[in-house]
Amino acid sequence: MFENLTNKFEEIFSSLKKAPSLDEKQVDEGLRAIRQALLEADVSLDVAKDFIAKVKPKVLGQEIIRSTSPGDMVVKIVYDELVSLLGESNTDINLNAVPPVPMMLVGLQGSGKTTTTAKLAKYLEKNKKKKIMMVSLDVYRPAAQEQLRSLGEQNNILTLPIIEGQLPADICRRAVSAASLNGAEIILFDTAGRTQIDLQMMSEIKQIENIINPTETFLVADSLTGQVAAEVAKEFKNTVNLTGIVLTRADGDARGGAALSMKYVSQVPIKFLGVGEKIENLEVFHPDRIANRILG
Ligand code: GDP
Repeated sequence: MFENLTNKFEEIFSSLKKAPSLDEKQVDEGLRAIRQALLEADVSLDVAKDFIAKVKPKVLGQEIIRSTSPGDMVVKIVYDELVSLLGESNTDINLNAVPPVPMMLVGLQGSGKTTTTAKLAKYLEKNKKKKIMMVSLDVYRPAAQEQLRSLGEQNNILTLPIIEGQLPADICRRAVSAASLNGAEIILFDTAGRTQIDLQMMSEIKQIENIINPTETFLVADSLTGQVAAEVAKEFKNTVNLTGIVLTRADGDARGGAALSMKYVSQVPIKFLGVGEKIENLEVFHPDRIANRILG
């Protein structure tokens, strides 16, 4: 992720750093190039415009223009603005409910939801020392329930036994009593996805939210889909109480638009990155590290 953006920024900054002093024209040219690089990384136009609008007055501040290394100061300003755009680091997981604490994962089909459910289960088990039960509510694709069961079996994570034909609302209720019986402290509900957002999907997710009352609702979004991922998050946020985003396929060659636009467009923070297909390939999202990576 971000490879092209990093290369572009490197070019822009190396020419800015060469200049012994910067005048307004050079600053304007540099900022125009930064805006172009952001747009090419599939950052939404509003985000790119706002980014430049925030950076410009800081760069034009007299102390920078007159400083001995204006280029370095521009890099620092861009870095700070990137961190602020990516959102604050927010690693908290809300466990504030009577166990079994319910959490749910939502998202479009193929975004990596089921894989992320298992990754998150492992993460919570390791980092919060909790016993987890995973539950698939995807009754529309029998393979989806089986996929979660098999992930559970391979990784030694409890899953709710599948009862064919049972509806999501009934599965939710059965899950709560099964988790209590088995001593599971957190239930992760993997909800059904569709290829695109539709009313039926949203009303089902709303119904599930009302039944389980989750402390966390994570949207799983594919970074390869660029700013569309941020728009999807915005739509989900209008229906349910989204508490965080897990951006998957951050190990791939995504241009970065999803990561950079997400917080601004949807107002929901990215909490984790999916960085591979394996169960341990889940990383906590650290905006400062990402900004460092972007700036090379
Ligand atoms: P779902 O339909 O949203 O439940 O998606 P799945 O969990 O079945 O994932 C779809 C495919 O994406 C699978 O082949 C996963 O192994 C793969 N996948 C999920 N997350 C990641 C990730 O972070 N990186 C990579 N490279 N592949 C992923």
